[in-house]
Order: sequence, then structure tokens, then C-alpha cells
Amino acid sequence: MPDLYGAIDLGGTKLRAIVADLDGNIGGELIRPSEAGEGPEPVIDRMIETLEAAAGKAGVSLSSVRAVGVASPGALDLEDGLVQEAPQLPGWNGVPLVEIMSKRLGVPVLLENDANAAALGENRFGAGRGTRFLVYLTISTGVGGGIIIDRKVYHGASGAAGELGHMVVWFNGPRCLCGERGCLEAIASGTGLSWRAKELVDGGHAPGLVGILREKGELGADEIADAARAGDVDARRLFDEAGLYLGVALAHYVNIFNREMIVLGGGVLTGAGDLFFDHAERIMRQLARKEPLKYLRLERASLGDRSGPLGMIAAMRDMGVE
Ligand SMILES: [Zn+2]
Repeated sequence: MPDLYGAIDLGGTKLRAIVADLDGNIGGELIRPSEAGEGPEPVIDRMIETLEAAAGKAGVSLSSVRAVGVASPGALDLEDGLVQEAPQLPGWNGVPLVEIMSKRLGVPVLLENDANAAALGENRFGAGRGTRFLVYLTISTGVGGGIIIDRKVYHGASGAAGELGHMVVWFNGPRCLCGERGCLEAIASGTGLSWRAKELVDGGHAPGLVGILREKGELGADEIADAARAGDVDARRLFDEAGLYLGVALAHYVNIFNREMIVLGGGVLTGAGDLFFDHAERIMRQLARKEPLKYLRLERASLGDRSGPLGMIAAMRDMGVE
């Protein structure tokens, strides 16, 4: 049997653990709710239990895996292995996750930003297999990104590179969680779409959306997408704008990075891509420079929620962790 490695995606709602070999063949996998509201300690306990269960499914004990990779959201200190803070993880302020987990597991633990891990996963095992230069964008609750240069994650001077979702594409546009206005995330993410819809409702506009909010009790990306498909003009406009500004952002990425491939993934794209993907691609092709555009392929992500854990497998392979 080849050496096995553990990897886990630490999310605000779910933990996804896999045990796999360095070629990305998954032997065991488990998903559990993270119950992040309980704070770091119980979540770390659950991460270890989830990894143990995934190892069990692979027919091994967790003590026999060679190393464990953790893909985490939020601001990380990669040098010291800390989770500085993450909006999805209440109470995580400077948690020395690498130290805690490596002590408890007795194996090396590697930490990486979740979107960077997903970018690496798609680059090595997914839609971007075989490419050297890739940009990955996940459109879900937020908009995250990862930049792959020569098959490696680009971290930047302080590890904070790849915040592609906070590119301002609409000057003085909608408010973003980060405090700015007009970030791509504020327009195309699930949270952004939901905020914008609620703003319309609160302003006494959008009668269709008012009705949906009353009927369903919430106005998330799924509800807005259903309304758009049913012909609601306000819902339709929100997705038109998401497509337009996503296209603007993509054109910038094309011009700046001259990548072989941009890979788009994430829950909002999976659930509602029919409403804005084609529009975004048209705008991108209209705005981007012709030379870098010639080399570009725009693809949908192929690994789904496994991109992060599989990216950690690739990262451990690169580090030569044994
Ligand atoms: Zn922002």
C-alpha cells in the first residue's frame, strides 16, 4: 500500500476530511458539520475525529498517515502556522493550529489558505491538470481566489496574495464585508447577492423579491436565482450585474496574469451559473487584451468541494513531507 496522507478542509459549516496517496487517490472521506459557533477547541477535536474516521474508511489508523494538511479560511500566518482570524470561525484569534494538531497527531501538519489549496487542487488533479499558470476563483458565500505560478501557489510578500474577490470593479458600488465598496465579492457572491436583494426589498422596490422573502423566509442566492429564472426583473438584474462585473474582473485577471487557464468554482456558480457565466465570459472576451486572451481557457472547476483537501495533498507532495 502506498503512503497515505490526511487532508481536511476547515469550513464555517462543514469539515471535509480525506485520506489519500500523493497521486490524489482518495481511500477514505468524511464530511461533518463543523459547528463553528462552539469555538476553536471543540472544532479542533472534531477535525481530528473526522480525520480519524476518514482514515478508518481507508482501512488505516490515523497514526499511520505520514502528514496532515489543513485548508483554512481567513487570515493565516503561514510561517508560524496560526489562524489569525476568520469571519466564519468565531473565536479563532491567533490559534496555533499547526502546533496543536501536530502535537496531538504526532505527524507534520501543513496549513494553507482554503482558496489557495483549492487552486492547487484544480491545478494538479482537476480542470487545470497539466497547466503551469492558472487563476482559480471560487464564487460561493464570498469570492476567493488563488494564483498558481509554475504549478506553485503564489503567496506574495506576507502571504496575503490572491484576494481576487476584493478587486474593486464598480467604483462606489455596493458595500462589501471588507469595508470597501464595489468589490467583486459584494456583487457576485452569495452574501453580496443576498444583501443587494434585501436592500431592494427594504427600499420598497422589487415586489417579486418581497413576496419571495415573505414566502420562504430568506433571500439567498438560491431564492434569487429561482426568481430570476421565473422572470422576476429585479432578480434578473442582480445576476446580470454579477455577470457583468465578474466579466470585468476576469478581463483584468487575463491582462495582468496572462494565464493558460482561469478556473471558476464555488456554490453560487454551481447553483446559478446558468444565469451569469456566459454573460461574464462575453464581457471578459470583449474587454481583455487580445494577446493574453489567445492563450486563455476559461473552465468550470471539476473537483467540487474536494479541491481544497486534494490541494493539500499536492502541497504535501511538493513539500516532500514524510
Ligand atoms: Zn471587499
